[in-house]
Amino acid sequence: MTYPFSAVVGMDDLRLALLLNAVSPAVGGVLVRGEKGTAKSTSVRALAAVLPPVTVVAGCRFGCDPASPDPGCLDGPHEPGAAARTRPAALVELPVGASEDRLVGSLDLERALTEGVKAFEPGLLAAAHRGVLYVDEVNLLHDHLVDLLLDAAALGTAYVEREGISVRHAARFLLVGTMNPEEGELRPQLLDRFGLTVEVAAPRDPAVRAEVVRRRFAADADPAGFAAGWAGEETALAGRIAAARDRLPGVVLSDAALRQVTAVCAAFDVDGLRADLVTARAAIAHAAWCGRDEVTEDDVRVAARLALPHRRRRNPFDAPGLDDETLDRALEDSRPDDDPPPPDGDGPDDGGPHDGGPDDGGPDDGGPDPGMGGDTGGSDAETQVKPPMPGGDEAAGEPTTAPRGEGGGRAEAAPAPDRAAVAPDAPFRTRRLEVPGIGAGAAGRRSRARSERGRVVGATRPAGPVTRLHLPATVLAAAPHQRARGRTGPGLRLVRDDLRQAALEGREGNLVLFVVDASGSMGSRARMAAVKGAVLSLLLDAYQRRDKVGLVTFRGTDADLALPPTWSVEAAAARLTDLPTGGRTPLAAGLLRAHEVLRIERVRDPRRRPLLVVVTDGRATGARGGDHLGQARRAAGLLAASEVAAVVVDCEAGPVRLGLAAALGVSLGAQTLRLDELGADALAGTVRAARSAA
Ligand SMILES: [Zn+2]
Repeated sequence: MTYPFSAVVGMDDLRLALLLNAVSPAVGGVLVRGEKGTAKSTSVRALAAVLPPVTVVAGCRFGCDPASPDPGCLDGPHEPGAAARTRPAALVELPVGASEDRLVGSLDLERALTEGVKAFEPGLLAAAHRGVLYVDEVNLLHDHLVDLLLDAAALGTAYVEREGISVRHAARFLLVGTMNPEEGELRPQLLDRFGLTVEVAAPRDPAVRAEVVRRRFAADADPAGFAAGWAGEETALAGRIAAARDRLPGVVLSDAALRQVTAVCAAFDVDGLRADLVTARAAIAHAAWCGRDEVTEDDVRVAARLALPHRRRRNPFDAPGLDDETLDRALEDSRPDDDPPPPDGDGPDDGGPHDGGPDDGGPDDGGPDPGMGGDTGGSDAETQVKPPMPGGDEAAGEPTTAPRGEGGGRAEAAPAPDRAAVAPDAPFRTRRLEVPGIGAGAAGRRSRARSERGRVVGATRPAGPVTRLHLPATVLAAAPHQRARGRTGPGLRLVRDDLRQAALEGREGNLVLFVVDASGSMGSRARMAAVKGAVLSLLLDAYQRRDKVGLVTFRGTDADLALPPTWSVEAAAARLTDLPTGGRTPLAAGLLRAHEVLRIERVRDPRRRPLLVVVTDGRATGARGGDHLGQARRAAGLLAASEVAAVVVDCEAGPVRLGLAAALGVSLGAQTLRLDELGADALAGTVRAARSAA
C-alpha cells in the first residue's frame, strides 16, 4: 500500500516539482536531493497513484496508445479498434546495480545471427513508457547508465543497438531521481539534464514534524482505513492534474513573460539555453496547474526557483540554492510596467555580462560526456574546474582566524593561533595516478579494467548470452565448418557454438585512500596550506574519475580515520579544510590504520581496487623514545605484503633533504613524487602506482 500523495506533509517544493512534471512531462524530470529519512522516496512513489490512468493496446509490451499506436511497434502492427485496456500509470524503479540490458532491454544476438530472428526482450524503459521512472540513489548509478537514461528521457525513445542490429521503441516517462548528497554528487553535466531540482530537509517546525509522525502512525495502524480517509483528496488531486493537462496547450507565454524568464537566467549566469527552455516550460506548467491561461511573474518565480539552482553549480564544492534577492531583482528589472526596455529592445549581447576570464565558455566545459570507452588519457583535459570554495560559507560556525585561500608570507608574518585550521591553497589539475594491472571494478576513469564498454581487446567463448559479438573471431570459428554444414548461398552458416564474445577494456573507479601527515614536522602554515591544496586537488580529480575516497590523518599520539570511504568528495574536502595540524608524527599508526581500513573495504567492496596515497615528509616521531622510523617501515612492509598500489607524495621542504619519504616509498613498494610533481603540467603522462612485486 503506498502512502497517499495528498497526505505528504511539508515537502512543498518536492510536491510542486513532481506535480508540474505530471502536468507537463516536457519539463524534464526532477532530481531530489536530501539526507536520509526525509520521505523523498515515499513522496515519489505516491505520485503514480494520482497520475491519470493510461489506456493501452491489450497485449502490447510497449504500452502503445490505441488512439495512436507506434507504427514501428515490435508487437505490432496494431489494427485500429484492437482490444484495449486501461491501467494505472506505471511506477518503475531502476535499481542502482542494474545492467545496461535490464534498462534498455536485450536483443537475443544468438537468435538474430543463427536464425535471423529479431528477438527483443523489453527493459525497464519500455515498462516506464507513459509512467514514472524512478531511480533512488541516482548519484551512485554508473555513468553510462545515467547517459542512456537521460538520452531516452530527452528523446522519448529507447534505442538499442548491437552489432548492427537495432531496435527502437517509444519511452516517454517522467524521470525522478533521488540522492543523498553526502554520498557523493552527480557530475555537473548530468545535473544539468534534469529539468528541476529540489533540496529536501526534514521540516523544522515541531508542529509539522508532529503531524508527520501522527499521520505515519495512523497509516501504519490501519493502512486501508488511512488510504480510504484520503481517497477523496487523491481523487481531487488526480482531477486537477488531468484538468491542468487539458489546459496546458492553451497557456500563453507572452513576450513580456518570456523576457522575464531570460532575464532571470541571464542574472544567474547559467550556461547555454537549456535553463531558459526548462524555466519557460515549468512556468507554463505552473500557470496551467493554477488554472491560468497566461504565464505571470509568479509562475516565472516559481519555475526559476526549481529550474535554476543546479545549473549554477560547477563542481561539488559549490553551495546549492538560489539567492532570492538576485531573483527578485532580476524579475523587477525585467518587469514591463516599471521599467520598459530601451527602444532597441533586448540588445544583441544576450550572452549577459560574463566575467571574461580566460576559460570563459571555453570549448572544453560542459561538453558532452565522451563516455568510458577508449579513454586513453585524452579526457584528462576535459573538465576544467574553477577554483572551489570549500568551507567558504563558514560551515558549522567553525572559528577560522586564518586568512582563507592565502598561502605565502603573509600568513606566516601574522601567525594565527595553533589550533586554527590552515586553509588549503587553491587546487590545480593533477596527473592521473593509476593502479597498475587490469581490474574489474565499477565504471570510472582511473585504472584499466574489463568492462561493459570500452575498446575491444580480444575475444572469448561466451560464458552466458552473447552481448558484444567479436565478428572476426566468430567468422574464424565458423569458417572451417561451412562445407560440412552444406553452405550454398552467400551467407555464412552460423551455429551457436561459433559465436565469440568480445572482451572489452575501459576504465574503472578506485578507492583512493589518503593518509595525510598533519603533524608539526610538515612545516610552516604556508607549507601545510600547499599540502592541503595538493590533497584537495587530488580529491577533485577523484571526483571526476568516479572514485570512492577516504581520509586517514595522523598527528600527536595517534591516527584518525577522518573520513571512512565514501562517495562524497565534498565531505572529504570539508574534513581536510578543518583538519588541525601540529604535534608529533605517528607515521606507523597512520599506515596501520590505513591497512585496517583497506582490509575492511576489501570485504565490503571486493572488486574496487584501492590506491593508497601517503602524503608525508617521511619523518616519524613518538612520545617516548623508540624506533619510530623502524615501526613505520614495518607498517609499510605490511601494506606492501598485501599488494596495495601506493603513491608517496613527498612533502619534505628546505635546503637539507633527508629523503625519508623516498625511503618510505621503497618500503611500501610505492612510486614517490614530490609535491611539485603532482600537477598535470609538471610532467606529461600518467603515474602508474608501483606495487610490490615479489
Ligand atoms: Zn505496441
